[in-house]
Order: sequence, then structure tokens, then C-alpha cells
Amino acid sequence: MNAVDQLSRKADFPGLVTAQGAPWHYLDTAASAQKPRAVIDAMARALGTDYATVHRGVYGRSAQMTLGYEAARRRVADFIGGSENEVVFVRGATEAINLVAFSWGGANLGPGDRIVLSTLEHHSNIVPWQMIAARTGVEIDVCPLTDDHRIDLDALERLLTKRTRMVALAHVSNVLGSVLDARRAADLAHSVGAKLLLDGCQAAPRMALDMAALDCDFYAFSAHKLYGPTGIGVLWARETLLDEMPPWQGGGAMIEQVSFARTTYAPPPQRFEAGTPMITEAIALHAAIDYVAGMGPDRLFAHECALARQLRSELQRINAVRLFGPEDSAGIVSFAIEGVHPHDLGTILDEEDVAIRAGHHCAQPLMSALGVPATARASFGLYSDEGDIAALLRGIERTQRIFG
Ligand code: PMP
Repeated sequence: MNAVDQLSRKADFPGLVTAQGAPWHYLDTAASAQKPRAVIDAMARALGTDYATVHRGVYGRSAQMTLGYEAARRRVADFIGGSENEVVFVRGATEAINLVAFSWGGANLGPGDRIVLSTLEHHSNIVPWQMIAARTGVEIDVCPLTDDHRIDLDALERLLTKRTRMVALAHVSNVLGSVLDARRAADLAHSVGAKLLLDGCQAAPRMALDMAALDCDFYAFSAHKLYGPTGIGVLWARETLLDEMPPWQGGGAMIEQVSFARTTYAPPPQRFEAGTPMITEAIALHAAIDYVAGMGPDRLFAHECALARQLRSELQRINAVRLFGPEDSAGIVSFAIEGVHPHDLGTILDEEDVAIRAGHHCAQPLMSALGVPATARASFGLYSDEGDIAALLRGIERTQRIFG
């Protein structure tokens, strides 16, 4: 049994079969990961026998739930090499980036300042910055890609000015699988006094993370891509930055003292968690991290890179296929087949119980740069194996026969 087979844990994932009980070749993990039984069970217990609210109840169940919720925060901190005061629970990566744009950006950006994004960003790392730009007058520069579709850090170096306040980049591209040299990006951003935000949505489920080693200032990811539930995500930020940031939503749980004359706010992370939090989701996220950590993020990374390499080399044999992204893509392979729209491919593959994503992947500026309206994207997870690749290739062959 090779390393790839050993890692294939399909049996832990009840979602990986069709309604008829046949294997479902799920190649859309970059959009959202399937959930292991351990996560489903943790969520069911938290919603059932263990359920109560947090932070308020004086009764035992609520106190227990509060311990569980805060233990989840510590587990996240431990998983990413941060401290618990630096972990803010949010609804997802989108909300994390909006929080930084509106709270940090609202307080720190003004006319004449600049932000750098890259061509390959997901819309959730573009639109919040455009919205804050409209309010503050800050201007956005776009860092181009290298020929093999990585963020071009030499170009970033040339774009940076003393007025650059923020550099916000994807750690791993959701379309191309390109992995950023995050440490170099941090050094470059810091050399002009700018902050670095990393959109870690696709990196958190695929590689070992260490905030200190990355040396970034903000890190955002969503639990649902990390084998956890929807509705919760993480913003990690340096404690010194969070301390200075104003709240962006007001309500219960984020205050110290409220009166009509004056309201004071709780310290971070509570200052940024207004209202009843995602209690059951945090507990299920804890279970997801235990599951992923048990497999070893370094092994996961190697497993998914090996599958991506294998798929790329198989696709390279097909003349009509155009491949995007670098050779060492982190488990995400985007491609186009001449004469076949990605949506048609996706529909035919669905008949073969193969699920891929077809479209712009919330990265329209990247599609323009690649010169295509859409791509087909196969993305792997820790449960993916060579059988999934074989099923995809069979489906592609059939599609080509249908389209002549
Ligand atoms: N950034 C990247 C790179 C992503 O892949 C995604 C999800 N497709 C997001 C941000 C947004 O994540 P969410 O929709 O979970 O907030």
C-alpha cells in the first residue's frame, strides 16, 4: 500500500457515497470539504445532549459549553501556532477579511494610501477592499502573476511604496493551487511598513501553519474547507493589532460596560464577537482540527501535491487540454478542454458520479488574465485517491467522444 492509499480515509466520510450507495468521486474539496464522522458526531452532541448557550448561564451545562467553546479557540491557536487571544471566531474567511478591511482599514487608511492585492485573489479578498477604498480614498494596486501563474513577488517589490499600508494575498490560490512564498511576501510588506494579510482558505486544510514562521499580520480561513462545519471561520491577528482595532459590530458579548452616556468594549477577541457566537460550530471545528492534526498536515500536503502532479501529467497527454497553474500545485488543478465548455464537462461528469467545479471560481479578474470565461477545476482532499483521478479521466474521455 503506498502513501496515497494509506491516506485514503473514505470510510470516515459518509458524504462520499451517492444516494444509491456507489462511490462518489468528490473533486470539489476546494469549494467545501466533506465531513468526517467525528465532526458530525461532535456537532450532533453539541446540538443535542450538551446544548446550552455560552458565557451567560450560571447553570452547569452553560459553564461546560463555555469551556468547550473556549477550548476550541485554544485548539485553533495551537493548530496555527498563535495564542488564544489572537483568535477571533467569525462566520468564515469572507467575514474575517471584511472585519480587517472595515475595522483596521477604517481606522488606518486614508487618501494617498495604497493597498496591494494580486490578480489571482478570490472576490472575498477584493471586494471588501474596494468597499473600504470607496469610503477612505485608499487606492488599490494589483500585483501580476508569473508565467507559471504564481503571485510575482518581484513585481510586488516594484509596486510597494512608502504609502502602501496593506498587502493582502492568497496563501494558496483556490483556482491554480499556487503556493505563495509567504515569508518573502511578509518581508517585502514589512520593508515599507505595510501589513500582510494572508487569505488562508485553501492553505489551512492543506499545509502545516505557523503564524510566527509566516510572520504575517492577519490570517483568515473558513472551517468548512478544513473538514469542519459551515458558519464559522477564523481571523488570526497579532495581539498588538487587535488591541488597537475598533469593534466593527456592536451588541451583546463584545462590551465591558453599557450606558446611554458611554459604552466601553471588551478586550479582544471578545470585542470582535458581537452576539451569541457559533457555539456548536466551534465545537465541531475543534473535532475537525483534531482529525486533520491526527493525519499530519505535512502528510496531507504531500498527498494532495502527489495527486495533483499525477492528474496534471495525465491531462498533459490529452492534446485538447489546456492546464493552468504551476507544476507544484497544492492539490488544485484547473484546466480547459478545447471545444467543451467547463459547464458541459461538469454536467457529463456528474452522470459518472464525478463532482468537479466549473466556472469562474469567484475569481473573475483571474479568468480575464487567463483569457478564459471559466475553467474546470478538480480539487483534492485528504480522502481523495487514484480511483478518483481514474474516474475523472474516464469521464473526460466520454465527454470528448460526445463532443466528437
Ligand atoms: N478565499 C479563498 C481563496 C477561497 O477559496 C474562498 C472560498 N472559496 C474564500 C476566500 C471565501 O471563503 P468563505 O466563502 O468560506 O467565506
